[in-house]
Amino acid sequence: MSVVLVWIIGAIVAGVLANNKRRNVGAWVLGSLLLTPLLVIILLVLPTLEDKKRCPNCGLWLKKEETVCRRCKKEQPDPAPVADIKKCPFCAESIKAEAVVCKHCGRDLPRDEAQQSFKPYEFK
Ligand SMILES: [Zn+2]
Ligand SMILES: [Zn+2]
Repeated sequence: MSVVLVWIIGAIVAGVLANNKRRNVGAWVLGSLLLTPLLVIILLVLPTLEDKKRCPNCGLWLKKEETVCRRCKKEQPDPAPVADIKKCPFCAESIKAEAVVCKHCGRDLPRDEAQQSFKPYEFK
């Protein structure tokens, strides 16, 4: 009975670890159930897969630089857009483009939208 318990706990731990390390959870859980919970130890020493993304269509893990899914041939959306960075005109520190107050020097920032909607013919 206790052996079965070890097996089940091992499979759960393998699942959690595999998820944390962005690996194939199903494969690791199944592997530790069918083979040995000692797979958890292997999983522990394996590095986290950082440069992977998941196809939103079929769930296949893809390399970050892949733009088309290998399995379903669906185009991949761009990775989470990085917040636009602009430079504070007062202290020249990098701040987010949406920022209205500089977090470094605390000064009010000129709004980009105002500049973009600037129309010369309004000043006839
Ligand atoms: Zn896919
Ligand atoms: Zn500043």
